[in-house]
Amino acid sequence: MFAQTLLKWHCHHGRHDLPWQGTCDPYPIWVSEIMLQQTQVTTVIPYYRQFMQRFPTVTALAAATQDELLDCWTGLGYYARARNLHRAARRVVDERAGCFPEQFDEVLDLPGIGRSTAGAILAFAFGQRHAILDGNVKRVLARCFAVAGYPGDTAVARELWALSERCTPRQDVPSYTQAIMDLGSTVCTRRNPQCGCCPLASRCQAHARQEIGRYPGSRPKRKRPLRHVTMILVRNTDGCVLLEQRPAEGIWGGLWSFPECPAEETAAAFCRRYLGTAVTVDQPWPALRHGFTHFELSIQPQPVRYAGQDDKVLHGAERIWYKPGSAPARGLAAPVRKLLNNLETI
Ligand code: SF4
Repeated sequence: MFAQTLLKWHCHHGRHDLPWQGTCDPYPIWVSEIMLQQTQVTTVIPYYRQFMQRFPTVTALAAATQDELLDCWTGLGYYARARNLHRAARRVVDERAGCFPEQFDEVLDLPGIGRSTAGAILAFAFGQRHAILDGNVKRVLARCFAVAGYPGDTAVARELWALSERCTPRQDVPSYTQAIMDLGSTVCTRRNPQCGCCPLASRCQAHARQEIGRYPGSRPKRKRPLRHVTMILVRNTDGCVLLEQRPAEGIWGGLWSFPECPAEETAAAFCRRYLGTAVTVDQPWPALRHGFTHFELSIQPQPVRYAGQDDKVLHGAERIWYKPGSAPARGLAAPVRKLLNNLETI
């Protein structure tokens, strides 16, 4: 049987010492499942440890400011996950006195939790039987049962969910869930799967047909559009740089960044209009690229010098003067952090 084979393999070859294992407390399990979305275990571990130290309980997380939370998340990417986790924590505290729900529909109703994540949390925390379908599971099932097509297509996803339901055993659901995740991330990897030591090799259709590369089908090719933005690096006479908080929604929502100058405006005109001040414009730095799921961003960093009074360009709590090299304690998008590091060395 599929599940029995995986469970046996997991006893000896699965991962049993991840920092979020060995507990039935839904909070650490929930945090880890959110962090693991689109992110590999090895990347997640240091972020998870730091996060749990800063926010050891759902109450601590709910009481945190968005800045504190995003500071902890900086570098992990997909910041909507952090904002949703924060919103969900506040709901769990406000509406349920800090008790995580045990009903599938109630879990699914929390921000940032989809069907697979809800199933995984309930399986690990409460031993409930739910199918899951994260990226690793999709790959294992698509190969083992030769499910052709891109898993993002509704019909393919439906077929994979049905298979996942069928394969999930009645007993030992937490171990099975961990086993299939582990197989996908350590043996049935995206590139160079190790079929020679795979417990499913004798029943795997992709392996039998020597067509592993066909499964799962790739996302239909679509060139990502390229967007351009000019970031204005305003420095004062003390070497501090002006940062402002981005709106809560949209890319890098709630993170701190540089003011952005529209393409049709010069840096000097923008600073006059937007900051209400004159600046000295320096040579632009080389552009850098940053990839998002749906588009590519070309960032043109434009340094300018400001010699006026610091508080004249501040705007309530939304702008600060930041000294490059000091601990930011605020969430920064990866390219912004990179530019700040460059400023530090100037
Ligand atoms: S035999 Fe190979 S392709 Fe099939 S499930 Fe195992 S590792 Fe994946």
